[in-house]
Amino acid sequence: MILNCYQKGKVNWHPLVVLALVASTVLFAGLYVGERAGLYERSISVADNQGNTRQEYNWRLVTSWPKNFPGLGMGPEKFAAMVDEMSAGRLQVHVYGAGELVPALGVLDAVSTGSVEMGHSGAYYHKGKIPASPFFSAIPFGMNVLEHNAWIYYGGGLELWREIYEPLNVIPFPGGNTGIQMAGWFNKEINSIEDYRGLKMRIPGIAGEVFSRAGGTAVNIPGGELYTSMQTGVIDATEWVGPYNDRSFGLNEVGEHYYTPAWHEPEAMLEFIVNETAWNSLPEDLQAIVRVAADAVNADMLAEYTARNAQALRDLRASGIEPKSLPNEVLDELKRHALDYYEEETARNEDFARIYQQYREFQTMTYEWLQISEKAMYDYRGVLKSTE
Ligand code: CA
Repeated sequence: MILNCYQKGKVNWHPLVVLALVASTVLFAGLYVGERAGLYERSISVADNQGNTRQEYNWRLVTSWPKNFPGLGMGPEKFAAMVDEMSAGRLQVHVYGAGELVPALGVLDAVSTGSVEMGHSGAYYHKGKIPASPFFSAIPFGMNVLEHNAWIYYGGGLELWREIYEPLNVIPFPGGNTGIQMAGWFNKEINSIEDYRGLKMRIPGIAGEVFSRAGGTAVNIPGGELYTSMQTGVIDATEWVGPYNDRSFGLNEVGEHYYTPAWHEPEAMLEFIVNETAWNSLPEDLQAIVRVAADAVNADMLAEYTARNAQALRDLRASGIEPKSLPNEVLDELKRHALDYYEEETARNEDFARIYQQYREFQTMTYEWLQISEKAMYDYRGVLKSTE
């Protein structure tokens, strides 16, 4: 009967066909709207060969990095592989590079609205929306990676982080660390703070604010555009990460002078963020798997960066690039501007004030310890060769 409705080129709409068309339109529109609004629960019941059913979850994870970018971009890929293995496929996480579903800096919004379940990014990218967020990735002259991990896991940092993300319906987890970075690539030598005047540099976040106060012009350009921007003179200087990642973008080919130390990023903690509604839909064992996999990535990435930066530095030196040190006079001036900024932001924002005080107290305490332990040994030790 239904097949007969197309006879003689004349469409006779059978009531069942109309009903089916209307039903499928409503269904697809509903799924589309539901998905856009984050209401579509991405889980299905699946029967195994013993006839038992199990719930499977398919999550999407958006990132701020190019797909499979060394270090940063491999963190979420490793996370997804670990979760898949530990959950025997019950939770599958599909990773999207920057721009595939949302732009590099649109990760927080996508997770907050629930249009995706997860993201991998850096807290300081959300400074415009959450002024205190940089404390959870990196701030100029802030903690190093040992101190930051200690603060996050055992100093109350994670609780503060969760608290300031709570209104956005987002739960953060530590998600990797680059360790200490480099001050960046410059097309001129920096001998005094005067050399910063008129300099155009890619340096985002609070560091950009500090750099501007020192007389430069700070811009934020995505990593993928740095090579061309330096090559064509759109910018005079750029920071990215360290030898390993800087070389991935070929910055050693377009930057003349490579400077240390990374006053602006003494480390950079990354984050996994999960939509709270999606999190609550997971059974407890899958929640534990997500937590443990995030912690594993947090530890793994630092080890990888330390090893690969060291190797890349050797390679850069072999090609004739010798890093230079920013003079103390320049660092003093930058630190003065950073402290001014923290005071001003303290007066403007209650969360910033509260977290800054706590962060600073913890940093002071860990500094006292590391000064007489790590630093003392490191300064004396050198390498395993006998002293002359
Ligand atoms: Ca950086």
